[in-house]
Amino acid sequence: MLKKSPYFDNKKLFMLRKYHYAFILVFVCFVQGFTQITDYQVYFANYNNQIVVRKWTQNNSTQYLVLNPSTLKTNILSNIATKALSWEAISGIFRGSRYIHDWKLEQQKDISLQDAGISKSDSTVNGFSLTVDLCPSSKPLARSFFEAVIKGFDVSERPVPITITVTGIWMKNHLDDLAWLKQQELLGNLRITWANHSYNHHYDPKLPLKDNFLLEKGTVIADEVLLNEQAMLENGLVPSIYFRFPGLVSSKVIFDQILSYGLLPLGSDAWLAKGQAIHQGSLVLVHANGNEPLGLELFLSMLQKNQDEIKHKKWQLWDISNLISSK
Ligand SMILES: [Zn+2]
Repeated sequence: MLKKSPYFDNKKLFMLRKYHYAFILVFVCFVQGFTQITDYQVYFANYNNQIVVRKWTQNNSTQYLVLNPSTLKTNILSNIATKALSWEAISGIFRGSRYIHDWKLEQQKDISLQDAGISKSDSTVNGFSLTVDLCPSSKPLARSFFEAVIKGFDVSERPVPITITVTGIWMKNHLDDLAWLKQQELLGNLRITWANHSYNHHYDPKLPLKDNFLLEKGTVIADEVLLNEQAMLENGLVPSIYFRFPGLVSSKVIFDQILSYGLLPLGSDAWLAKGQAIHQGSLVLVHANGNEPLGLELFLSMLQKNQDEIKHKKWQLWDISNLISSK
């Protein structure tokens, strides 16, 4: 059972982390020039018909993570004039928007232990969306997978829209791989939606699901979410409005806590390595952290089989926001 898990080498990783921690911190600050964040907080406001969702201090200025409620894209603004509002006020002001529509849809999907949240498009679309999880791993990123996806969709889509869900521990131990992914964005090969997959992503193969992942005793949800967002920002990534539960495991309590931060949890109806097939409108899940090669192989063989459909845009890769908010 252990060998089939995309998370099985967690313990080895913690050993590695111990020795590389100091070096990596210095490396991040030196090479990338991103300075440390302080006063990071959940902060809601209305700014020019966009929704401010976070506020922090960095480089001696106040910065804000701002969401476009129509496109569901986020960006960072500095030193803007805003006034804090309650979530209730925000959801009232933006009640007709795609974002509040999706947030309310999420509220109806908060009950199951596994795969809660939006897991597929409600509409029929020509194609699907690809989500790639980067859970903690001591193995290198499967770069050849991304190269094959870029090549496979070159005839129909460039840059290729893809969602990568990332953990703080993975980023800390894979600075080269992270730089490589960012380079693919700069080269115009990939258009990445960066989603939060929690900071630590604890997993214990001996524990039942109801006590595992974020449901493990002693887990502080606020830290798992907000420390990971800070790590993303300090690594030069713009966090999207999406969150993926480690192992797709959650309870109603923690699901609702994620919603209270304004985030939209992503499930999946097509975790390929678990034998689930891709359908029109699917939210496909694979792991590119080296621990679940089967899912990558299945995806690439599907690419081969559907070359003609891809060429004629009958089989498209969708941007996550356009897929799940396509009604
Ligand atoms: Zn994971």
